[in-house]
Order: sequence, then structure tokens, then C-alpha cells
Amino acid sequence: MSKFKPETLCVQAGWTPKKGEPRVLPIYQSTTFKYDTSEQMARLFDLEDSGYFYTRLQNPTNDAVAAKIAALEGGVAAMLTSSGQAANFYAIFNICQAGDHFVCSSAIYGGTFNLFEVTMKKLGIEVTFVNPDASEEEISAAFKPNTKLLFGETVSNPSLEVLDIEKFARIAHNHGVPLVVDNTFPTPINCRPFEWGADIVVHSTTKYMDGHATAVGGCIVDSGNFDWDAHADKFPGLCTPDESYHGLTYTKAFGKGAYITKATAQLMRDLGSIPSPQNSFLLNIGLETLHLRMKQHCYNAQKVAEYLEANEKVAWVNYCGLPGNKYYKLAQKYMPNGSCGVISFGLKGGREISIKFMDKLELVAIVTHVADARTCVLHPASHTHRQLSNEQLIEAGVRPDLIRLSVGIENVDDIIADIEQALN
Ligand code: PLP
Repeated sequence: MSKFKPETLCVQAGWTPKKGEPRVLPIYQSTTFKYDTSEQMARLFDLEDSGYFYTRLQNPTNDAVAAKIAALEGGVAAMLTSSGQAANFYAIFNICQAGDHFVCSSAIYGGTFNLFEVTMKKLGIEVTFVNPDASEEEISAAFKPNTKLLFGETVSNPSLEVLDIEKFARIAHNHGVPLVVDNTFPTPINCRPFEWGADIVVHSTTKYMDGHATAVGGCIVDSGNFDWDAHADKFPGLCTPDESYHGLTYTKAFGKGAYITKATAQLMRDLGSIPSPQNSFLLNIGLETLHLRMKQHCYNAQKVAEYLEANEKVAWVNYCGLPGNKYYKLAQKYMPNGSCGVISFGLKGGREISIKFMDKLELVAIVTHVADARTCVLHPASHTHRQLSNEQLIEAGVRPDLIRLSVGIENVDDIIADIEQALN
């Protein structure tokens, strides 16, 4: 399938029915799978054969959708999770354990920030946040002997900062660790981080991939490019025997599939967080039109951003498709066909006026969501990021007056008309 272009992969990758099988990916709504002999089943538990035995570890519907996302990203393997939060947690926990450390861009989603700063700390894993626009020397200074990875978001939620992926990959690789990139906002339709040196990609599929706000989900994709064995001392979980699998060593047994196999066989086995096959089915339907929707999201967002920029009631607009934007050049490099449909802006009059404006919107809804077909709006300082202090808000690139507008795929004239009446 990988010889095909992204549009074709969106529609067809992952599920290739054989003679007489359903044309549409079936929902394997079964927790268990039948075998004829005890020996057949035993070989699965020893990872000596591949096959399904229990949906907490693997399910055919989930795997077909994971394979589609792997193909879209240009990776070797992928694993679905029940949420984007679970994907980010597993992506880190698969190679970090108590006593380890990682470096992370400060421009990330508030939920990810909490997970890394508060919850992972309780597990003994420390994080150092760095300004993603800092120099290579400054970012490198955050690395320690026990640093295991570097993390960033391609386009950060909600600050919309564009990650210099090549710079981050260089820094990570100079320190012998992988670069993990959350590619939720651009999706592989607009950016493929592996082509710029990223090693692992994570997604909240809840956003554009599902696209219809029907199913919470996540995904981890491995490029297969990072040489774990070349840094075996840093990654004992992958490069030394796993006692819980009879002394099997993932890199030796699975080569380029080691990282995802470990995440599935060990983390999913022990921690769960598998998506329901029903949700994966919905995600797959969403993926079938991802290429069409992303084009429309970007077209509409560009028009809305230009409208807002020209409006005298608007104090500032942040959208990397605007030529005056700080990240315009980086966006042109990494996402020449557009970034995503999310814009942030503030109104003259500040926080109070911004909240009033939101209450006046009619077509555009206030929801705790982003990146689906319907245009929606949110005030992060009052909603998603309300647990952050003012200093943490500023560090995460979230101004107190920031309105996050997720431009949908309706007719853009109707979206602008609603914004205009609310501004008036
Ligand atoms: N990563 C990014 C960039 C996000 O925007 C989000 C949620 O908004 C997440 C991860 C977490 O994903 P989920 O809500 O699916 O758990």
C-alpha cells in the first residue's frame, strides 16, 4: 500500500479484503479469539506466533486502522490507544522508567503538560521544559545523562507554534535519543515528521483524524529509524531480556517492530487503554475523508484569519498561514499545503470582551473540542488550561485573552458572518 499517495491511503490502506470478505472494514466486536489446540494458544503468549487472543492486547479492527495511520505517516508499525493522552503516556513510558528524564518543548497541549509535569513525576520520571525557539545550545543544555527522549508538538495546541522538526531531531540524535512528535494538528496530510527526522509520532485521533467528534482515541507510530541497540545502555527495556516474556529481547526478536511490539505486548497487556473496535471503525470512516477535510479546514481558516487580521476590533491574530506570522517561514517549509484549521486571536478590550464575544456566537459553538467538522471556539485560560498559573500559561504560549477558534468545513462565508455579528 505504501506505494500509493496519501489520498489513496486514506481511503484504502489497512484493510485489504480477500475473496468473499466484506468490502468495508468489519467491527470485530469480540474480546476473545478461538484456537484449536492449547499449543497454538501457548505460542501466542510466548510471542512466537502472531495472532489474536485477547482484545486488550490486539484486535483486527484496531490493527487495520493502526496500519492505515502507519502508512499515512510512512512508519513501520502503529498502535491505537483509547485516547491521545494514553498515546502520549505510552510513547514515553515505553522507553522511560523511574529515575529517567526527558526534555520537552514548553509549547504543548495543557493535558500533556499536566501528564508530564505532575503525573509522570509521581512515577519517578522527570521532565525539563524548554522554549522550542531557543538555540540548539540552549536546548542541549537541558539534557542529562539519564535523558531518554525529546518531545514536541508539530503545531502546538493552543499556542500554534510551529516546531522546527529538523532542529529538534538534530538535538535529539546528538544526544543519542529519539525525537517524539505529537502530529495531531497538521495530520500526515499536511506534515510527515518522519521525513524531517522525527522517530516516533503520536496522535490524538480524537481530532482531525476522526474529524466528526464521535470517538476519543490516540495512536503511536514508529518510523523504525531509531537504532535502539546503538544506545542499548539507555534503553534496557528494548535491548535487554524481558523477564515477563521468558527473556525475550524486543530489538533482537522484532527488529524495526521492537518499539511498537513492546508497547503492545507489555504496556497494553499491563495497563490496558485499548480503543473499542466500534470506535476504531468510526475513526476509519473519518480517515477515509481526512485528505478532503484538511484541505477545506485550511482554506476556511486562511480566509477567517485574513478577515480577523483586517478587523479593527481584533487586537492580534495567530495563524501560521499569515505572511506576517512569526512561524510563517517554518510553516511554509514543513507544511506548504497548509497547517490546520485552528486559529487563535484576542480582541481589543482583553479577556472580558473575548468572553462576551464568545457568548454572542450562534453558528460557532463553545465546546471543549478542537479540530472537527463543526466550527467551535474555546477560551483556554477559562477552560482547558484553567489549572495552569499565569506564569505557566505564558510559558505554554497561552495569553489570558486568547480565543481558540477551530474553523470547520462549513461554508466560510457563514462562519465569517457569525463572527461579524458577534463582534458587532
Ligand atoms: N495532543 C494534542 C495536541 C491535543 O490537542 C490533545 C487533546 O486536545 C491531546 C494530545 C490529548 O488527546 P485526547 O483528548 O484524545 O486524550
